[in-house]
Amino acid sequence: MATPRETTVENEASMMGTSLHSGSKVRLTIKPAVAGSGYHFRRMDLADQPVIPAFLEKVKQVERATTLAEGSVKVSTVEHLLSALRGLEIDNAMIELDANEPPIGDGSAAPFLELLAKAGRKELEAPRSVFQIKEPVWVTAPDGGYMAALPHEGFKVSCTNANNTAYHTQFLSIEVGAHNYAKEIGRARTFVFYDEVEHLLGKGLIKGGSLENAIVIRGESIMSKEPLRYPDEFVRHKILDVIGDLALFPVPIRGHILAAKTSHGLNLLFAKALLKAYRAYQSSLMPVENIPVGERAMDTNDVMKILPHRYPFLMVDRILRFEGETKAVGLKTVTINEPYFQGHFPGHPIMPGVLQIESIAQVASILLLRNTENAGKLGYFMSVDRAKFRKPVMPGDVLIIQVELTKSRGKIGKATGQCLVNGEVVSEAELMFAIMDR
Ligand SMILES: [Zn+2]
Repeated sequence: MATPRETTVENEASMMGTSLHSGSKVRLTIKPAVAGSGYHFRRMDLADQPVIPAFLEKVKQVERATTLAEGSVKVSTVEHLLSALRGLEIDNAMIELDANEPPIGDGSAAPFLELLAKAGRKELEAPRSVFQIKEPVWVTAPDGGYMAALPHEGFKVSCTNANNTAYHTQFLSIEVGAHNYAKEIGRARTFVFYDEVEHLLGKGLIKGGSLENAIVIRGESIMSKEPLRYPDEFVRHKILDVIGDLALFPVPIRGHILAAKTSHGLNLLFAKALLKAYRAYQSSLMPVENIPVGERAMDTNDVMKILPHRYPFLMVDRILRFEGETKAVGLKTVTINEPYFQGHFPGHPIMPGVLQIESIAQVASILLLRNTENAGKLGYFMSVDRAKFRKPVMPGDVLIIQVELTKSRGKIGKATGQCLVNGEVVSEAELMFAIMDR
């Protein structure tokens, strides 16, 4: 079987609609994006047209809808659009909109399915990374809600919309992918409970809301503009939201998701637990084989005791482990807040390759300078050889920096190093230093 590759939309496509919470008209355009970039929103209505990455760490609010923020710039109710993108297995896209939320449409992902059908899907060069669940991951909520991920080859969701009213309790277990998302999940509409509607209106939410874009449940009865699209439409919408919120995870998930009493808050709590497991898995992908977890690793404070570098030029967050005197593995989380992303490049953030070389140099310096004889000295670059840049590094990536000292005698140190993302080498170089007093 061919290696699955990352995808994006083939063509630019636009739609018009009304936003739910503010009730304003909005124009939304979807555009192709490079491999590894994920989803980004661009606010066309604001000065400088700021970009907000659809990353888990950008979630600012989860009441009724999922809101992302970058500084003071927000975009709300992103979950149905993201669900359609991830559901149709489109990995990368730039979403431009001239309001603070996408159109609400009919309360399902159907309008976005139409948009994405117009835009088409195109394969990119890069192979697609996924997070294959190998160990169970779970979270529980105080109201009895829970979510868990179990090992499974594909992507399957088993979900119930059970709630305290006992009416319309549904359960569905379904394998979801681009082959069936549009038919089985994407058309399921949002539902609200009658008792909640007044409260929401009172809070200034759902200004654009009506029976046009939600099903209202009042006790046993259902108020809806058109008949139910599926007998179990409610649980299908729950699954739609789970997929949309998990689209904020850096890569597609392969596993069996179990979910009860979900909310955006619980979905995102779960996504964060998965992220923790994913980061632990990434940092275990050490190509320097069999490094014993012997010596104590270093946190940022320890690192800063050895290196004089400070933000924004500290390119190592942690040392994960040392192997003897000559090998170390460091970690740097690359966030969109790094100042160089502003200009490298606007709307298309890529970590400069030279800064990856710098991160190798900083890990090498830690190896050299932690020797007591070199304490308080500095390593100065003398040469960089065989530098290679193999793949772009994007915001959200975790850079694993693996360095081996090949020489450290007298005043000269030599090192080889590689930076890895998701277990793949993204850059490498051979460095030479002079060790000198400060
Ligand atoms: Zn929803």
